[in-house]
Amino acid sequence: MKKRGYTEADAYNADIVIINSCTVTTTADAKNRKAIHRVRRENKNAVIVLTGCMPQAFFEECSAFDECDIVVGNKSRKNIVDIIEKYLKNKEKICCKEEYTNKDIFEEISVDNFSDRTRAFVKIEDGCNQFCTYCIIPYARGRVRSKSLNTLKKEVTALCYNGYEEIVLVGINLSSYGVDTEHTLFDAVKCVCDIDGVKRVRLGSFEPERMTEDIIEKLSKEEKFCPQFHLSLQSGCTKTLHEMHRHYSAEEYYNIVSDIRKYFENPAITTDIMVGFSGESREDFEESLRFAEKVKFAKIHVFPYSRRKGTKAYDCVDIVSDEEKARRTKLMLNVAENSSKEFLQSMVGKCEQVLFENKLKDGSFVGYTKNYTPIRVISNDNLSGKIIDVIIIDAKDDYCVGVVK
Ligand code: SF4
Repeated sequence: MKKRGYTEADAYNADIVIINSCTVTTTADAKNRKAIHRVRRENKNAVIVLTGCMPQAFFEECSAFDECDIVVGNKSRKNIVDIIEKYLKNKEKICCKEEYTNKDIFEEISVDNFSDRTRAFVKIEDGCNQFCTYCIIPYARGRVRSKSLNTLKKEVTALCYNGYEEIVLVGINLSSYGVDTEHTLFDAVKCVCDIDGVKRVRLGSFEPERMTEDIIEKLSKEEKFCPQFHLSLQSGCTKTLHEMHRHYSAEEYYNIVSDIRKYFENPAITTDIMVGFSGESREDFEESLRFAEKVKFAKIHVFPYSRRKGTKAYDCVDIVSDEEKARRTKLMLNVAENSSKEFLQSMVGKCEQVLFENKLKDGSFVGYTKNYTPIRVISNDNLSGKIIDVIIIDAKDDYCVGVVK
């Protein structure tokens, strides 16, 4: 839009407001609706455009939103400026959605500037072929498409030119990177590590599939690669994993964790765990809980299962009560808290390279180690944007305290 002469304005004063929706949970949908109401209430004359995953997955429903002037599915968003200009000319509501097909290719929309000056997120993969029974994402994002290594190289080089030192590679199902181009996630990491100016490379959340020992070993040889692995688990019970249509057992997951720990000195392994999935018995949950304890995650994002319309699991009748979900969430959060504390404690005494970001009100600077442990350091010098050796001297509830070496 900037290229076509539009300028930025806040949502309550803008002539055109684009709401880029997430639809991963029903809560996300509710937030989208709330955002639409709020914008319409505060900015009566704005042209409201709803795009993103919600209209792609629930097109009929979204097209019926009176407050939206334009409803555009994910796949059509590349034409969004043309669509908006058509609306501005005719003032007639436009709703459009293209279906995803197996022939889709990666949509080349790149970003070379972020509000955060130290870390840049580069999307290298879109879509998912997995169809976990609880998940709407494959319907909202289509099949796996990967960014070419050439484009990746150009994009990251431009980011380095703009001063970014840390690159985070992200995707909808990141481990599937390259299944359509005969590359692997390692090839993408290697491509970025080889670019002068890049100091650190890390991965966003990824799935256990295709995380072979060979890939883990190769990653461990890349000096710029950061040993932070957000390896999605969802359940530590193999029976539940099977019902979720996840393609690994708890044991296979554990083997990947062991390989990571074998090749990396001090990796942080974090995860997502869902509790109360349809059919998750008390015993299944206990198994999942014990598994989470055994892995000793650095961090666990715990969330209760909520039925998602349009998914396979939506029609399952065996549903865990809300009270029981709350009980299980609490128990899993306890495990999460303990293992997170244990992990932070294990960092005390180490000397780590910290990339500093911002300064807090109390005068301390916050930065992250290679394994993404948050570190606070008091300093009279401005540490922002610098990579500095820090000795970690203490662990608090959710960060560590260090001193410059
Ligand atoms: S792998 Fe991830 S994105 Fe794909 S269906 Fe499963 S949960 Fe959804």
